Amino acid sequence: MGRVIFIGAGPGAADLITVRGARLLAQADVVLFDALTDPALRALAPSAAWINVGKRGFCDSTGQATINALLVKHANEVATVVRLKGGDPSVFGRLEEELEALAQAGIGCEVVPGVTAAIAAAAATQRPLTRRGGGRSVSLTTAMTREGQLHAARTADTEVFYMAGKQLAALSRRLVKAGWPAETPVSVVSRAGWPDQLHSDHTIATLGRASMLHAGRPAVVAVGAGAAPLAQSIAAQSRSAVQASATS
Ligand code: SAH
Repeated sequence: MGRVIFIGAGPGAADLITVRGARLLAQADVVLFDALTDPALRALAPSAAWINVGKRGFCDSTGQATINALLVKHANEVATVVRLKGGDPSVFGRLEEELEALAQAGIGCEVVPGVTAAIAAAAATQRPLTRRGGGRSVSLTTAMTREGQLHAARTADTEVFYMAGKQLAALSRRLVKAGWPAETPVSVVSRAGWPDQLHSDHTIATLGRASMLHAGRPAVVAVGAGAAPLAQSIAAQSRSAVQASATS
């Protein structure tokens, strides 16, 4: 009987996978991968069988049951099965269901972390998620409940919403209802970590305008302290530092 290694592929470009993830991926006999992972990762395990089990948004329970069954089936047939997930496996990745299915079948597992979309978006936009003083807590929140209802709250200084892309105008209204001031900064990043990533700045009041720009693209929506641009002077300083290192 083989083992299953869950590997976080990171949010985009293949080189955002961890060194450990890349090393273990190279040992795979079979890779079950998600839609949001970079096809360039195939080069790390060229002789493995790559099986697309991708889905976008919440998959139905049949889809998840099929993935669970495939994991168990392949782990019974080969030495190393890799379950490659976009971002980090532990963040909105249905990891608990897959771990439970494997535990029930008595199959050993390992989980290798990855860069989750919220962190990639913060890096891409140079907006630290925590800020000294006003940004002491961060919440990663799915905008959709299991029943497909939109959900928004104010539980942290910075709230990062996943899976909100289709409903930004509604999210804006929910945020106001949850007690956020309408002028609170909101930063939306779609396809963070990919060459075609897009970033736009809004307030809660104007968030609905982001819908068209980011339509059909996976996006994270940061609200509150960590969404604010840095003070101009700090931003200019870091730009000149980057230029200086590029020219030296
Ligand atoms: N495990 C993943 C999240 C999977 S849920 C992670 O840790 O990032 C899918 C949601 O993640 C999408 O609806 C979107 O909100 C977000 N997402 C995934 N990849 C993204 C990317 N490259 N840029 C922005 N958001 C992304």
